[in-house]
Amino acid sequence: MSRTALRICPLCEATCGLTLTIEGTEVTGARGDRDDVFSKGFICPKGASFGAVDGDPDRLRTPLVREDGELREATWEEAFDAVAAGIRPVVERYGPNSVGVVLGNPNVHTMAGALYPPVLLAGLGTHSVFTASTVDQMPKHVSSGLLYGDALAIPVPDLDHTDHLLLIGANPLESNGSLCTAPDFPGKLKALKARGGTLTVIDPRRTRTAKLADRHIAIRPGTDALLLAAMAYTLFDEGLVDPGELTPHLQGLDELPDAVRDFTPEAAADACDVDAGAIRVLARELAAAPTAAVYGRIGSCTVPHGTLASWLVDVLNVLTGNLDRPGGALFPQAATDKTPRPAGPGRGFALGRWHSRVSEHPEAKGELPLSALAEEIDTATEQGEPIRAVIAVATNPVLSAPDGDRLDKALGSLDFMVSVDPYLNETSRHAHVVLPPPPPSQSPHHDFAFNALAVRNQVRYTRPAVPLEPGRMAETEILARLTLAATGMHGADPSAVDDLVIGQTLGKAVKEPHSPVHGQDPHELAARLTGVSGPERRLDMMLRLGPYGDGFGVRPDGLSLEKLLAHPHGIDLGPLASRLPQPLKTASGKVELLPRPLADDLPRLRAALRERADGLVLIGRRHLRSNNSWMHNVPALTGGSNRCTLHIHPDDAERLGVRDGADVRLKGAGGEVTAPAEVTDVVRPGVVSLPHGWGHDRPGTRLGHAAADPGVNVNQLLDGSLLDPLSGNAVLNGVPVEVAPVAEKITPLT
Ligand code: SF4
Repeated sequence: MSRTALRICPLCEATCGLTLTIEGTEVTGARGDRDDVFSKGFICPKGASFGAVDGDPDRLRTPLVREDGELREATWEEAFDAVAAGIRPVVERYGPNSVGVVLGNPNVHTMAGALYPPVLLAGLGTHSVFTASTVDQMPKHVSSGLLYGDALAIPVPDLDHTDHLLLIGANPLESNGSLCTAPDFPGKLKALKARGGTLTVIDPRRTRTAKLADRHIAIRPGTDALLLAAMAYTLFDEGLVDPGELTPHLQGLDELPDAVRDFTPEAAADACDVDAGAIRVLARELAAAPTAAVYGRIGSCTVPHGTLASWLVDVLNVLTGNLDRPGGALFPQAATDKTPRPAGPGRGFALGRWHSRVSEHPEAKGELPLSALAEEIDTATEQGEPIRAVIAVATNPVLSAPDGDRLDKALGSLDFMVSVDPYLNETSRHAHVVLPPPPPSQSPHHDFAFNALAVRNQVRYTRPAVPLEPGRMAETEILARLTLAATGMHGADPSAVDDLVIGQTLGKAVKEPHSPVHGQDPHELAARLTGVSGPERRLDMMLRLGPYGDGFGVRPDGLSLEKLLAHPHGIDLGPLASRLPQPLKTASGKVELLPRPLADDLPRLRAALRERADGLVLIGRRHLRSNNSWMHNVPALTGGSNRCTLHIHPDDAERLGVRDGADVRLKGAGGEVTAPAEVTDVVRPGVVSLPHGWGHDRPGTRLGHAAADPGVNVNQLLDGSLLDPLSGNAVLNGVPVEVAPVAEKITPLT
């Protein structure tokens, strides 16, 4: 007897509502939920494969504990005993920074990942924090932190209303959007064109998104900031600057012309390989459009000037009056955002409050670069103890960080490591304890992170579609127990973690004059929370204190968990709207257009006007049926065009003697890999492209399908030394490589 259940899809940032078909406890089908208030029935091939992802037979079912060098199945009690016995002695002997916490990208796709790691980090007090952000979007966080005083205040393009969209380094037809949550992003681009709008794509590859565009500019990889700076220059040069109603909220506008003075289109043209006239046209079109939005993504972040590029994206939106206006780029307002405080000066954003021990990288948003994880483990210095224990949650940095071979070795040398992971993969194989969360069908879901990036305000929550299998532990409980075990409270009831957060949050809220619960008794408020679990009570609290909340009865029509549960397809909260100056938390209370760290980084960008390395450069690429390294063990999502091949332009292939389908060797600063060539003119000459997340050929994993078609690890070509200095983000695009047919010898890099 089959039944259906709703589940928000956790497989990418678009957060589509799914209707699952379930036979017994098995998910046998998935289709788009036509009544979902946000996604309205959209689904992509990944979502349609939810059942296969969920039911992957290689998922671990019980905890594993290392004994005599071997991982064996264990009880949950044994596993958490081992975690406490592994972590606490390290903290007590070497201090909290000797425990590294590594958080992977799937954490933003689960409720547990949003709710518990902050408590773990606060309880441990370690500065050794590494996340997927520094191989992805940290430049955008730093840019937002400096511009708006809040690293999480990221404006998103108003896709449904804009007249002109300029995408740089983004391929939403494959990614379905990133740092911009929009189910059916492809449909929204087609709708933009259908209503007479224009789409411009700047990308070294003629991606599927670029093919849809009115104009495609095949920029030289890594030069995005130069092109954007030249567009800003043009706006000033041609008298096209008009911030409009933003003007009273801006600080530093008068200093910008001087800051971009050297970036004339003519000066940038050669470095970018984009004609100066074309750069001027891009700027003029942006200024002339009734509304417009510039949106930059991974290709403009994972480059040497990623923070400057991210900043310039927003600067262009400001200069053309498109920041914070409908049709431009707007700040979403999520239902679980904090109670909006009155506009006014805030504490601002600080960078470099501490530094990594070995290479002295500054922290950004409380994190150190993932690129530095290996050296922080394997290198002794006088600056303090190396990392001796690692807590890894939903992360596979052996594949996702530069120089996986070195990290692989470093992880193997740790005194202790615990992984929260459904798989025994290239990273978790080093753990002393592996704690497997249940499949997604058995977990509740609410998007704390992505609703704050959504192109329409809405709120949805789905309870587990399938009951927890016997012997399983809820992911929220795993992370709560892990937090207790790692922070010296092993054995306490896991609800203590939720109670602590609830007590602290309500205790603070009642003291805030702008809070709807100002002056009330926090214990009485806590007693009124609903929900069948600690995580649900926390969600209820956040909803009720949030911008649309019922304020615990102050606004009876407002949101609460109870109300949300009565709307299983979600509640629409309306289109994005202008919000400035309320979201600003800068010391001035304004948008600080030329913050000192960015101004100080401009000479490096000026120098790049004159740099132009010859030879091939490497870029990544995204595939619709993939998401980092997570899904390579699902047969339905591999094969076909989702393969780990090297895209190379026919001119380069001919020059190098590379044949389509034949193996080629790539050499970079971090090592060599061999991959089959795919000769194609979708990449521009001088550029080769290899996807990431592959390289499933290490021993000791349990990824049967992935190991049968392992691909190669593109990040092995990197040595971890190339970073955007402001954000610590790894440079993954525009990296020099040498390519040769396997039979030929490669000359060393100079
Ligand atoms: S677009 Fe993303 S969220 Fe939507 S179905 Fe596909 S993987 Fe799931």
